[in-house]
Amino acid sequence: MPIAPPSQPRRRSLMPAERPEDRPEDQIIAACRAMNASGLNQGMSGNISLRQGDGLLITPTSLDYDRMQPEDIVRLDAEGRPQGRRRPSSEWRFHYDILRQRPDVAAVVHAHPIHATAIALHGRPIPAVHYMVAIAGGPEIRCAPYARFGTQALSDAALAALDGRMACLLAHHGLIALGRDLDQALWLAHEVETLARMYLASLAMGEPPRLPDAEIAGVRAAMQGYAQV
Ligand SMILES: [Zn+2]
Repeated sequence: MPIAPPSQPRRRSLMPAERPEDRPEDQIIAACRAMNASGLNQGMSGNISLRQGDGLLITPTSLDYDRMQPEDIVRLDAEGRPQGRRRPSSEWRFHYDILRQRPDVAAVVHAHPIHATAIALHGRPIPAVHYMVAIAGGPEIRCAPYARFGTQALSDAALAALDGRMACLLAHHGLIALGRDLDQALWLAHEVETLARMYLASLAMGEPPRLPDAEIAGVRAAMQGYAQV
């Protein structure tokens, strides 16, 4: 019996299947609901943005995802000015700054998942204790120092922690995950939360050893073939 070649692992989509009539606003709402249904986020603490032309679309502030309609999604123009019937998320500044400064990124997911945030409460990164840390782009998933929500200081700290990376923690706050599309950003947010959960579990036996930077670089090179990073 011939042995079938191994198929490439495919990234599991966390988004519901897209319908042809879906607009970007529909995709954002679907991503928000998927984020809460999967336990990645609680309540309205998360927010999501998607590059749109020379601006972006972003979730509104203080609106339950289940009640959110496409008309509630706010557009920010190239100068960051909001258009629409709602006010943008209070975290619009880092969404805007990331999408302006990272042409490789089209979607930004921010959430407060329990395990990743538990590590961020200590202001600590997720070190290279598992090879999958490489999916965020380097040998550790950095933790940006604390700054108050909605501030330019928080945006600056997040951008620095995301330099050359696709995800970071925010001290005393939560996480940010980036993607070329919403599906990828949501997937990465889940992966970071899973890594955080594994790392926290391992700490019961003491601090686990790290993989060398060279090994993480090798893993990253191997992953390129799978188009996951
Ligand atoms: Zn937040």
